[in-house]
Amino acid sequence: MAKVVLVLYPDPVKGFPNFPDDYARDSLPAVPDYPNGQTLPNPKGIDFTPGALLGSVTGELGLRKYLEDNGHELVVTSDKDGEDSVFERELVDADIIISQPFWPAYLTAERLAKAKNLKIAVTAGIGSDHVDLTMANDLGITVAEVTYSNSHSVAEHTVMQVLVLVRDFVLQHKISADGGWNIADAVERSYDLEGMDVGIFAAGRIGRAVIERLAPFGVKLHYNDRFRLPAEYEQKYHLQFHESINELVKHVDVLTVHAPLTDETTGLLNDDLLGTMRRGSYIVNPARGAIAEADAIVRALESGRLAGYAGDVWAPQPAPADHPWRTMAHNAMTTHTSGTSLSAQAKYAAGTREILECFFEGREIRPEYLIVQGGDYAGTGAHSSAEQR
Ligand code: NAP
Repeated sequence: MAKVVLVLYPDPVKGFPNFPDDYARDSLPAVPDYPNGQTLPNPKGIDFTPGALLGSVTGELGLRKYLEDNGHELVVTSDKDGEDSVFERELVDADIIISQPFWPAYLTAERLAKAKNLKIAVTAGIGSDHVDLTMANDLGITVAEVTYSNSHSVAEHTVMQVLVLVRDFVLQHKISADGGWNIADAVERSYDLEGMDVGIFAAGRIGRAVIERLAPFGVKLHYNDRFRLPAEYEQKYHLQFHESINELVKHVDVLTVHAPLTDETTGLLNDDLLGTMRRGSYIVNPARGAIAEADAIVRALESGRLAGYAGDVWAPQPAPADHPWRTMAHNAMTTHTSGTSLSAQAKYAAGTREILECFFEGREIRPEYLIVQGGDYAGTGAHSSAEQR
């Protein structure tokens, strides 16, 4: 019997919804497997209705029945910060901890050291930078995440935020909601995306999905990544490769950011780099908040170097109520929702269940889900992150 501690974001303030009456839609459409051939999460079973809220405390990622039927204990909480938090208390004898990037239960070195029984830390989503991976390695704790589960969700959100910024949707919607019709004011900062140079920083799963979704808009696409994409892919999307992010940002009107948070990418979007961008550039960063220096972004918006900034990731999370990005001019921020649409929740909940089934049944967890295993980086972790952490 194992003790599973699951940290999820709080329920809706108006109460947990009943399915389907309280939902906008009755079901989710079927979607194909991922473009690289990876299959969708495929657990032996699920005990939830796809399209229902799973990512908050009462949703429990649909795991309670499965875990309790198999004799395990499940503790679910959103109380994750500070010495007196439920998470801090419960982690000491947890065998499994499941957390989310959206409401990160930071698994610091101290917490990992306290969690003497911990065997596996699962990220229900993508991005395990809230886990101290060096310590996880030292302690032989497995870290796994549901690779690809919400990549397309984030890519859609990115495209939306690019359009929201370039067309200046937020102001236009406000004028409409306020009962106005002042068109000249509404279009003062509104442009077409067509013809613009768009730079993709890191062309991994999300970055490539953004490339593929933006190409039909008639933009000129540029990118930087540690490794070049295959020539036929570059040709298909008329992609211009730049050797560094420094070169990339000089040549674009819109920059989208899709790199993991590592030592190399922390604070990358700083005054120096922003100062080399074209006047009136836009940045959309759904990767990690700490890739940008918060105050440098504010300064660049004030000076006009940036015409807009959007994204849905912050540092820390949740962001304090007075975080400057909430109120800075020309922002279109969201609160880390891009990867946790109801559609995404169905995928990462199923992927979490798949990882748990593998763990309990002694089957191998798919390499694409593995970040750290047996004291070393493994699978996806070994490929894309190990050298940098
Ligand atoms: P991915 O497939 O692993 O792609 C990451 C890409 O970044 C890889 O192509 C990697 O190159 C490249 N890269 C790493 N360090 C770089 C550097 N210093 N310079 C240039 N390129 C670099 O990951 P993904 O699924 O696209 O996700 C990307 C990030 O988005 C995640 O790490 C996570 O932080 C964030 N994310 C956010 C949300 C959300 O809800 N907002 C959801 C999912 C993910 P190589 O593979 O060649 O090493």
